[in-house]
Amino acid sequence: MTALLRTTCPHDCPSVCALEVERRADGTMGKVRGSNRIDYTAGTLCVKVSRYAERYHHKDRLAYPLLRTGSKGSGQFTRIGWDEALDRVADGLLAAEHRHGAEAVWPYFYAGTMGYVQRDGIERLRHAKKYSRQKSTFCVTLSDAGWRAGYGKRWGVSPVEAGEHADLWLIWGTNPVNTHVNMMNHIAKAKKRGAKVIVVDVYKTGTADIADIHLSPRPGTDGALACGIAHVLFAEGYADRDYLARFADLPYERLAEHFAARSPEWAEAICGVPAERIREVARLYGQAQASYLRVGYGFTRQKNGSAAMHAVSCLPVITGAWARKGGGALYSMGDIYGLDKTLIEGLDVRDPAVRILDQSRIGPILAGDRHDLGDGPPIHALFIQNTNPAVVAPESALVRQGFLRDDLFTVVHEQFMTDTAKLADIVLPATMFVEHDDLYTASAHANVQVTRKLFEPFAECRSNHQVICDLAGRVGAEHPGFAMTEWELIEDMLAKAGLPDARTIFEQGGHDLLPQRDGGHFLDGFPTPDGRFHFAPDWAAQGSNHTGMPPLPDHQPVIEEPTAEHPFRLVAAPARQFLNSSFTEMASGRAREVRPTALLHPDAMLRLGLNDGDPVQVGNRRGAVLVHAKARPGQHEGTVIIEGIWPRGGFADGECVNTLISAEPGFPNGGGAFHDTAVWVRRVTVELQTAA
Ligand code: SF4
Repeated sequence: MTALLRTTCPHDCPSVCALEVERRADGTMGKVRGSNRIDYTAGTLCVKVSRYAERYHHKDRLAYPLLRTGSKGSGQFTRIGWDEALDRVADGLLAAEHRHGAEAVWPYFYAGTMGYVQRDGIERLRHAKKYSRQKSTFCVTLSDAGWRAGYGKRWGVSPVEAGEHADLWLIWGTNPVNTHVNMMNHIAKAKKRGAKVIVVDVYKTGTADIADIHLSPRPGTDGALACGIAHVLFAEGYADRDYLARFADLPYERLAEHFAARSPEWAEAICGVPAERIREVARLYGQAQASYLRVGYGFTRQKNGSAAMHAVSCLPVITGAWARKGGGALYSMGDIYGLDKTLIEGLDVRDPAVRILDQSRIGPILAGDRHDLGDGPPIHALFIQNTNPAVVAPESALVRQGFLRDDLFTVVHEQFMTDTAKLADIVLPATMFVEHDDLYTASAHANVQVTRKLFEPFAECRSNHQVICDLAGRVGAEHPGFAMTEWELIEDMLAKAGLPDARTIFEQGGHDLLPQRDGGHFLDGFPTPDGRFHFAPDWAAQGSNHTGMPPLPDHQPVIEEPTAEHPFRLVAAPARQFLNSSFTEMASGRAREVRPTALLHPDAMLRLGLNDGDPVQVGNRRGAVLVHAKARPGQHEGTVIIEGIWPRGGFADGECVNTLISAEPGFPNGGGAFHDTAVWVRRVTVELQTAA
C-alpha cells in the first residue's frame, strides 16, 4: 500500500515548502505534493521538487565510498568500504594537521540542505579541532547588512497577509516564478482583488511578465532608483510625517533635504530608468493604502548591494506603510527564530583566535593568496559537505586550478558526482532529506518544521551527521554533540528556545512564530537599540570594510562599471529548473532549460550582428564562456543575462559561468558580488557542441 508521508523541502529556497511524499509498497518514492498545513506554501511546490522521484532514484546517485585511482580530475575512482574510507579521510586530515597545523584543514560547506543538523554539524568538527573557520558569503551577507543597517533584525509582514489586504505589491530584485513559486499564489490573490503589481528587475523575468509595470534598471543601480522614488514621495506629499516622527532616527526636514538632491532625473542618469517612469511608480506607491514591498537577494549581489538594500528598504518607512493591514515589507524572517545551535555547531568550543577564511575567495585561498591566508599555513586538506565550489564559487577557473594541486587532500561528501566531487581524493555518498531527521526554518514564512526519516538510506549512503560523528572519533575531536542523535540535537534546540517539543511540532506540521511579533508590523518600534529605523546607519556595526559607505540612503559607485573593452554588465541569474547547481543532474530539467544562453537586448543583438541561436563568447580578464545568444526585450541595452549554474559539461568549452565572476568582496561586510561583472560579448563562427 502507498503511504502519504509528511516532510519538508530541504533545498536552499525561501519557501521551505511543507510536502507530502508517497512511499510505495516496494519502498520506492512516488509523487511529491505540496501540503496545505502551512498557509504560505499552501499546497504549491515548484516543478523541480514535484519531480523529486527522478532525482531520488537517479541512476547516477552516489552509492558507495570512492577512492581516486587516476590523476586529479580524471574521474577515475574505485569503490572502497566505509571503514577504509573514513580511515583514509582521518589519515589525510591528521597528516595535514601534524605537518602544517590544524588551520591547514578547512571544512567547507554551504546550503545544499537547509536542515540545521545536517547542514551545520560540520561546524562542530571544525571548532572541536580548531580547523580554519569559514566566513559564509555566498548568499545573504550583502543583503543582511543592508537590511540590518536600517531595521536591526530580519522579519516582516507575511505575503499571505499582503495577498489578502495589500493594494500594491512592489517586488524588488527577486523572481519568484523561478526561485520560490509559492509567492505567486499570494500575488495572484492580490491581483484578483485589483491590487497593482510592480516589478523591479534587471530583465523581463517570468514574474515581470505578470506585472502591471516592470522597471528595468542597469545592474547595480537600485540604490539610485530607490532614492529617485523617495524624492517624489517627499516632494509630492506622500511621506508620512507622523510615522517618521515616531519611527525614524532623523527629522522629516533632514530627510526631505537629503532626497531633494536625488531627483528622478538624477536617478535616470545612473540607473537608466526614464524619470517619468520613476515618478509614475513613486506616485502609485505613495497613493496606495497598503503597499507591500517584497525585496529579494538578486539586486544585492553587487559590491554596493548593502547600500542598495538599505536605500530600497527605507521606502515603507517613508510612507508609513508598516502601520497598515497588508502593508509593510518582507526581506527575510531569518532573525525571528533565535534557535541556540551550541550543541550542533560546537559554539562552546569555538576559538575566536582561529583564522577565518572567506568562502567566496576559495580560488585565491587555494592559490596561496597571503592576504587571504593571513599568518596561517596554506590549505592542505578540504572536507566538503553541501556545496559544489568548483562551479558555484567565483573565479571558478582559479578554484579548479587550486583543486588540482598535488599537495591538497580533498574529501567530498555528496549525492552526485558533481564537478567538485570529480576533483576529490575521496568521495562519500550522502543521504537525501527523506533519509534522515532534521529541523528547518524559512525566510519567506516564520514556521519551524521538524522532519523524520521516511526511507531507508539508498545503498551505502550516510547522513552528514553520521559521517561527522564517525570522523570525530578518528581524528580525536571531543564534544557532547558527537554522541547525540539527530533527534536529540533537535530537542535540545527547541527546549532552549521554549518551543514545543519535536514530536509536537512534527505532528502539528509546523510552529508559526509570526503571531507573537505583531504579525511582523513592528507596531511598537523596530528591533534597533532606539526602536527607530536608521536612515543614517552605523555601518561600522555591519562590517569592518565600511569606509565609503553612504551616510544616508544612496547609490554607492563601487561596481564593476562597463568600459570600452567590457561594454556589458553580466547578471548570472537563477534558472527555473535548477537551484544553484542542484537539480542540474536531472535530464527533465536540463531539457527544459535547453542550454546555457546569453539573453541580450534586441538592439545589442543588431549591433553585434547576431540572430537568435548564434554562438557567442562572453568574457573578461578572468576567462570566457561559449554560449548561444537570444534576444530578450525588456532589459537595458548594456545588460547580459545567463540563467542557471550549469555544470562545466553543459558549456561547449567545458567552462562555467562563475569563471567570469570576481571574488572581490562587497562592502561593508564582504559577500559574493555574483551579479557585478563587466564583460565583452563576441560573435564566434564555430558550431557549438556540448562538452562531455
Ligand atoms: S519552491 Fe522551494 S521550498 Fe518549495 S519545493 Fe521548490 S525548492 Fe523546495
